[in-house]
Amino acid sequence: LLVRRTSRVLGRGAGSAAPGTIAGRLAPGLLAALTQDRQVVVVSATNGKSTTTRMLAAAIEPQLSVLTNVEGSNLERGVLSALLTDPRRVRDICVFEVDELALGAVADATKPQVYVLGNLSRDQLDRMTEVRALGRRWAALLAAAAARAEEEQSPKPSVVANCDDPHVVAAVLAAGSDEPVLPTTWVAAGYPWTTDAAACPRCAHPWTYDPRYVCDSCGLQRPEPHWSLEDGMLRAPGGSRTALDLSLPGRANRANAALALAAAATIGVDLEQALSGVQQVSSVAGRYSRVQFAGAEVRLLLAKNPAGWLEMLTTDAELADTGRLPLVLVLNAQGPDGRDTSWIWDVPFELLRGREVTIAGERVEDLAVRCRYAGLDVTVAGDPLQAVEELVASTRAKRVDLLANYTAFEQLRRRLGVS
Ligand SMILES: [Zn+2]
Repeated sequence: LLVRRTSRVLGRGAGSAAPGTIAGRLAPGLLAALTQDRQVVVVSATNGKSTTTRMLAAAIEPQLSVLTNVEGSNLERGVLSALLTDPRRVRDICVFEVDELALGAVADATKPQVYVLGNLSRDQLDRMTEVRALGRRWAALLAAAAARAEEEQSPKPSVVANCDDPHVVAAVLAAGSDEPVLPTTWVAAGYPWTTDAAACPRCAHPWTYDPRYVCDSCGLQRPEPHWSLEDGMLRAPGGSRTALDLSLPGRANRANAALALAAAATIGVDLEQALSGVQQVSSVAGRYSRVQFAGAEVRLLLAKNPAGWLEMLTTDAELADTGRLPLVLVLNAQGPDGRDTSWIWDVPFELLRGREVTIAGERVEDLAVRCRYAGLDVTVAGDPLQAVEELVASTRAKRVDLLANYTAFEQLRRRLGVS
C-alpha cells in the first residue's frame, strides 16, 4: 500500500502496477501461488478488453465475489498488484484484463479456467507486433493449456471468442483443423476493422465472402456463432433474443457486452441477472465519463490505435446524429501512445466531414495535416480544454465530445478530476 501511495505522490500515474512490479522482482512465483486455489478468467483483445472485463465483473458480481484489475494495469505486474492490494482475502473468482502480448506469461502462472478473446489488430506503429505473429502466440498458449489439462487429467479450460475476427479464430482452432483446441463458445461480435485481416491468417490466401469469410485455399472459415448481435439485440444459444439497452454507447460496446454475457453464461450466471449488471456499467477507468466544464457537458472518449479510432468515430457519429455535437480531437505521441504518429493516416477521419471539429494535443500539427487531407475544416487549438471553452462560447453547445489518445486522455482525466 505504501508503494502505491508513493507512486501516486510522485505523480507516476495511478500507481496501480507498482506493488506488483516490486513483489514480482522479489518472488517470481508469487502470481502462481496467489491464484493457485482461485478460479481465474482472462480477457484479452487489442481493443475493448478493459470494458469487457468491467462488464464481465459487473455481470458476475451479484452472484460471486469478484477480484479484477480495474485500473487497466494489464501486464503480469498489474495482475499481481490487483491480487496483492486486494483488501479481501477470499474471492470466488478473478477476472483479469490481460495485454495481448502478456497473455502467455499470465496464463502460465494463473492457469485460467476461461479465456475471453475479443479481437486482434495492429496497435500504434512502434508498439506493433505483427498481428499474425500475435495470433500464433495465442494459438501456442491455448494448445499448451489443452496439453496441460490432458497431462494433469483436469477439466479443460474453455474459450469464449469472437468468430468474426479471423485472427482470433485461427488462434483458437487447432492447426490445420476446423475444431477448436479447447471447448469454445463462439460469439459473433463483429469486426469492422478489416485492414489487418484482408487475407487468411493461416495461408495468406485472399478471402471469399459468402458473406462470411471463407478461405478457398485452406478451408478456414467463420465458425457458426452460438451468440450473435442482430440489430442491437443479442441472440443467445437456443434462439432467444434480448435487447441490450446498455449505458455505454456504440457498436463496439455492444460487442464487448456480447462477449461478457457469453462468458458469464460459461461461468454459470443467469443471462437476465448478468445483463442487469452489464447495463449498469456507465464508465470504465474514466472512459465515457461525463463532466460539467465551461457550462457544457463534456464526454471523455479514449481511442489508442487505428481500429479504436474507427470505432470511436463511428460511435460518436451514431450519437451525434441528433445533436451534431462539436468534437475536440486530441493527439499526443509519448511512449505509451507510440512516438510515430503515421498510424493516423489509417484512421478514416473523412467520417467527420460536416462536423464542427477542433484539434489539439502535443502533435496537433500531424493531426492538422491528416484532417486537411480528409477534407475537414478544423480549428487548430493550443490547449484541449481551452478549445472546449471556445467551442462552447462560439456554438452555445450544451454537450461536447472530447476524443483523445492514451496520454492525452490521462492528462484530461486528471485536469477534469475524473476518477
Ligand atoms: Zn487459408
